[in-house]
Amino acid sequence: MQVSAYLKVSIAVAVATIALKTGAWWLTDSVGLLSDALESLVNLAGAIFALMMVTVAAQPPDVDHPYGHHKAEYFSSGFEGVLILVAALAIIWAALHRFAEPQPLQALGWGIALAIISSAMNGALAWAMLSKARQHRSMALEGDARHLITDVWTSAGVVVGLLAVQATGWLWLDPVLAIAVAANIAREGVMLVWQSADGLMDQALEPDIRAEIDTTLAGFAHRTIRFDHVVTRRAGQRRFIDMHMHMPAAWSLGRAATLRGAVEQALMSAVPGLRASIQLLPMDVEAHFDDSKDLL
Ligand SMILES: [Zn+2]
Repeated sequence: MQVSAYLKVSIAVAVATIALKTGAWWLTDSVGLLSDALESLVNLAGAIFALMMVTVAAQPPDVDHPYGHHKAEYFSSGFEGVLILVAALAIIWAALHRFAEPQPLQALGWGIALAIISSAMNGALAWAMLSKARQHRSMALEGDARHLITDVWTSAGVVVGLLAVQATGWLWLDPVLAIAVAANIAREGVMLVWQSADGLMDQALEPDIRAEIDTTLAGFAHRTIRFDHVVTRRAGQRRFIDMHMHMPAAWSLGRAATLRGAVEQALMSAVPGLRASIQLLPMDVEAHFDDSKDLL
């Protein structure tokens, strides 16, 4: 099965899980189970996002988007982050309301059974996806599987809590559980929004990758060759670098181009997916664009 096929299956499972857990909430009137159902919404959003990442973002550059479509990923994850935050706030509101007016839970046995069935389904899917992700080194698939595993643990916590409610009759346990789950959902939402905002603002490459680049460039630097004004940015899976290569003014264009090609090749093999643009300049000349000094 292809990675995208796994993601489509995980979307279907997320929809089924939401249906089962919503049914469990409807039967029992437990806000803990309601929050568990909304947590599955996070997984649905995550699966749709991952599918977008491997389809939209992987589209080749076209006339209107000559740099590619990698940033589609940030836009969709930011939007989902906001949706998730709204869901978390709705749960907290419902749970606080429940503290004020405690209500007896009904048909707890059925609710718990539905929650266990949906968690077993999610657990099996997460296990299959994780082994596939390791085999294909797919970040999108692995991220989605990890979300699912978190969801299974949350559901287990809610089920244990409801069993405790059944045993003790402490109704306040239910909204406490709901708020704990909502806090976790809110954390995931904030992280998604934060990551996408960071990505849209052209974040620099990861420090370890930048170190790799510096080592590669140091291999070419020489008394008569200097690299400066190195700036990097990420766009989803794609990485970009802009830089100057200063050399003796007397070099022929052919000689300069040969060295430039070698540097570009070395950078691309050191950092997969890197797209380099290297400006050729004589040793004592700087580009006017960089006079502003706001670039390093
Ligand atoms: Zn320069």
